[in-house]
Amino acid sequence: MKQHDVVILGGGPAGSTAATILATAGLDVVVVEKEHFPRFHIGESLLPATVNIFERLGVHSAIRDCSVRKPGGKWLYGEKEVPGDFTQFDQKASFKDNPYSYLVERCTFDKILIDRSEDAGADVRFGTEVTELIYDGTRVTGVKCKSDHGQEYELRGRQIIDATGLRALIPSKLRLRKLTEPHRMGIYAQYAARPTRDDIHAGWFLGQMFYDGWTWLLKLPEDRFSVGAVMTVERFRKSGLSPAQMLEKLVEENPLLSQGMTEDRRRISDVMVTGNMGNSSEQLAGDGWVAIGDAAYFIDPCYSSGVHLAMKSAEMVADLVAAAPSSELICPTLFEDYTQKMRHHESTVHNMVDAFYIASRNTSVQKMVTTFQGGWFTRRFVTFVGGDFDRNSSYIGRVRRYCQFVGKLFGNDSRRTPANSPEYLHNAAASAPATAAAEAAEAA
Ligand SMILES: Cc1cc2nc3c(=O)[nH]c(=O)nc-3n(C[C@H](O)[C@H](O)[C@H](O)COP(=O)(O)OP(=O)(O)OC[C@H]3O[C@@H](n4cnc5c(N)ncnc54)[C@H](O)[C@@H]3O)c2cc1C
Repeated sequence: MKQHDVVILGGGPAGSTAATILATAGLDVVVVEKEHFPRFHIGESLLPATVNIFERLGVHSAIRDCSVRKPGGKWLYGEKEVPGDFTQFDQKASFKDNPYSYLVERCTFDKILIDRSEDAGADVRFGTEVTELIYDGTRVTGVKCKSDHGQEYELRGRQIIDATGLRALIPSKLRLRKLTEPHRMGIYAQYAARPTRDDIHAGWFLGQMFYDGWTWLLKLPEDRFSVGAVMTVERFRKSGLSPAQMLEKLVEENPLLSQGMTEDRRRISDVMVTGNMGNSSEQLAGDGWVAIGDAAYFIDPCYSSGVHLAMKSAEMVADLVAAAPSSELICPTLFEDYTQKMRHHESTVHNMVDAFYIASRNTSVQKMVTTFQGGWFTRRFVTFVGGDFDRNSSYIGRVRRYCQFVGKLFGNDSRRTPANSPEYLHNAAASAPATAAAEAAEAA
């Protein structure tokens, strides 16, 4: 049986980025993708550091032509707003020459990326699912595939790259995948409407916290919106609502969602759900295989880090594989440095996500966050959330510790107002008067 240089499982941003780089380097690459493209995928808000990868792949102008230009992300805290304007980077930012990114429709974006892989010479098999791994001893040497016409066949590769997203095929089969607590889920849909705010119209990503969760609103091309929320599975279960009822309630009651779109808004897609959002593989590489993108780990999307990490991890792995001597077997040690860098990214972004959720539960922390804005703080923060996760880790660690400290000092809002009360689907900061009233009642 023919042995390919590389077999890539999954053709999302991670798989297609790896395929383009490897095929451009002259390697024989096969991509196995179970869907037919274009297909819907969530994850539309991108980071400026990723634009450097678009340039390298030669897809920047194609992406620019079908997207909304994104100047930054903005979080609403009651009456206050905290903008992360990408032009406020520090001088070492990797994106200082392109301080902007894009809001994309993933069906179009992912198709541009995979078309580029085919142009570079990769053999992409759409509508084909990877069902089993093939071993030679302990080494993964190939996969069994099934096309949607029922055809079953095997593929062998010198290196197998798992880019199957949250499915994380190899880590799951090898029982390396662990779920991180607490379980959160995403509920989302597309709406047709016009923006009511200039910042949304100008392409800003807008988010708003509620207790242990958040909502997002972002404009897509042609007066469509991506609308969604992330919350704990426990909270969703306790609500007794269906996903569609929950999203509709949020669109009615959450200030960002209810006021950010014109009243003639209309849902134009099904309401979709992603569960098990926090997970990570105990190993990122093993004998014959390596995991990239969400297949390596998934971090809460509150900082829109997923596509960047997918493409960045693909770039790192593809460069290593392309440079490895073609006559030798690739050892997992080739990916030691990759694993170390990815773990560093994972823990730093996790620290920031932790700080985010501490703030979501605590109005005092939100006040602190909104007070320390501007100058040095903002430049460090913007550089980090722009995608430079390899630097600023000590700064991010400190942010998290301050948030923890203030959070402990004042206690979570839920001690004062039940976390499941309706106002917690609104912004926690906006509910501060209710909290104050509850405190006054207690004191009386
Ligand atoms: C609610 C929510 C909101 C998000 N928002 C953002 C955001 O705003 N910005 C951002 O950057 N990220 C966001 N993300 C994260 C983003 O969606 C992912 O990080 C990104 O898509 C990862 O890319 P990937 O290539 O690793 O995986 P994917 O894009 O998931 O691609 C994996 C591919 O593998 C294929 N596949 C799976 N199993 C098999 C199999 N057995 N055989 C063959 N093919 C297979 C799938 O069909 C898919 O095409 C969000 C995620 C969620 C859940």
